[in-house]
Amino acid sequence: MSLLVVGSLGLDNVATPFDKVENALGGSATYISLAASYFSGPLYLVGVVGEDFPQKYITLLENHNIDLEGLQVVKGGKTFRWVGKYHYDLNVRDTLLTELNVFEKFDPIVPDKFKKAKFICLGNIDPALQLKVLDQMVDPQFVVGDTMNYWIEGRKDTLMELLKRVNVLIINDSEARLLAKEPNLIKAWKIIRSMGPEILIIKKGEHGALLFTDDIVFSAPAYPMEMIYDPTGAGDTFAGGFIGYLHKTQDLSAENMKRAVIYGSAMASFCVEKFSTQGLENLQYFRVHDRYREFRNLSRFDEKE
Ligand code: AMP
Repeated sequence: MSLLVVGSLGLDNVATPFDKVENALGGSATYISLAASYFSGPLYLVGVVGEDFPQKYITLLENHNIDLEGLQVVKGGKTFRWVGKYHYDLNVRDTLLTELNVFEKFDPIVPDKFKKAKFICLGNIDPALQLKVLDQMVDPQFVVGDTMNYWIEGRKDTLMELLKRVNVLIINDSEARLLAKEPNLIKAWKIIRSMGPEILIIKKGEHGALLFTDDIVFSAPAYPMEMIYDPTGAGDTFAGGFIGYLHKTQDLSAENMKRAVIYGSAMASFCVEKFSTQGLENLQYFRVHDRYREFRNLSRFDEKE
């Protein structure tokens, strides 16, 4: 069994109230695959970069056993670029620039070897590209999809097509409100359920995440952190940890989904501790597991008789 990840690979300029970086490794597929690499393989990536994409970033992905046969490098092309600035409240960020560059004409080709992957994570990119990838798969069994306001506002019809074919949708609270056109998140879940996904995960930044299925609602805390250095990629990292754990365990029960949400939250906490992907580059699985266990004490309490 293998896991296929598609999404953006990019160069990010990020400023927080504490520091800034330029040309840092970014992109949804980058964060998802790095996070998932701590769980199990084989891990396949489909994406595109330009010739300006530094070799050291390719090497980093390869060192995490991510199969890059599906990565196109466009001669003379420019890599996807994103520029973001965080406010003092790190839950709030402004996107200052999104340059699709090589993604504008990207025609994703899934290598034959990847086509039988059963677990698929459609990272945040144009939903038309997410659909193109899905169309090439032989028998996808578990599809996790992510999107953002940029596509909800700009590609709603295509996104609606995609949602019919996604098992789990992972979005943040403002995106859920925007997609459902409903301010209340419980009502928003019901509206999004009617669009297709049988499971919805709503990320709420430093306030944790909510998991909705037809039978349960599960509220996961976020790991309390004294220093959040750079929240970029936290959502994608969450998705990578979530699907990585489910792929490793091959158990799609509701109880295991809850564990996967906690593993996703644990991975996201490592991501935000450092700039760009640095927090995900040299982790050991035992540290991920230790943090996962720490979550149990965050909201466990005994009922008094
Ligand atoms: P997150 O903080 O989880 O929303 O993810 C941030 C990452 O998403 C950054 O590294 C960006 O390069 C990437 N990103 C931002 N906007 C887009 C977009 N419109 N399409 C694809 N990827 C994007």
